[in-house]
Amino acid sequence: MINSKILLKNGNIIDENGNLEKNLSIYIDNGKIAEISREEEQEGYEVIDCTGLYVTPGFVNLHTHSPMNLLKGIAEDISIDNWFNEKIFPYESKLKTEDVYWGTIIAAAEMINNGVTAFADHYFCQESVYRAVADIGIRGDIAPTIFGLADDYEQQLKNAVSFVEEYRDKNSRIRLRLGPHAPYTCPGDKLKEIVDAAKKLKTGIHIHVSETKEQVEESIRLTGKTPIEVLYESGGFDIDV
Ligand SMILES: [Zn+2]
Repeated sequence: MINSKILLKNGNIIDENGNLEKNLSIYIDNGKIAEISREEEQEGYEVIDCTGLYVTPGFVNLHTHSPMNLLKGIAEDISIDNWFNEKIFPYESKLKTEDVYWGTIIAAAEMINNGVTAFADHYFCQESVYRAVADIGIRGDIAPTIFGLADDYEQQLKNAVSFVEEYRDKNSRIRLRLGPHAPYTCPGDKLKEIVDAAKKLKTGIHIHVSETKEQVEESIRLTGKTPIEVLYESGGFDIDV
């Protein structure tokens, strides 16, 4: 793409505001849109005929655990608790850093193949996810997962903060944030502690909130508040979520 001239010829263009214009050509020079017009074809471009097709800005996948692509299809039609505890966790706990790298590569290739050009990831082995995103060329927003209930919670938080500090300015396609797993797995002051660490890093968080009716009911039973209220009171909405 870089140092090349590409013409997307005669496509139906949907712009970033959702407006549709038919039968336009897009001239791309060195990876950037240089012109959108109905003029006669210019010379020197590699032509991709888009007649009858739609051309849109890239889609954004707002939440995924991309390395789990490797576990796709191993458990269907069971409850979320059984899915995780009985099926996913035994496999997931055995994943090595290279597995995470290749799981991310396969997921990113699938995303690119389906028009997704940026994604937000929430997982472990963040260095492997980072390396895969850097290698394959997609845009990534990477959040190392932190479990407040884990025995090594303090270490998880420390590692996530160090990761953001070390990698944050190394690649213009990649953004980093902290990934508290969920209000129910980061109880007490843990969620606020992670939010405060994100504020200090001047970054945001990526978190699961109110995924099921049971989670909301359990949160109200234990704390008197919904997961959204718990997140709000932790300062989670003062920063990018
Ligand atoms: Zn998730």
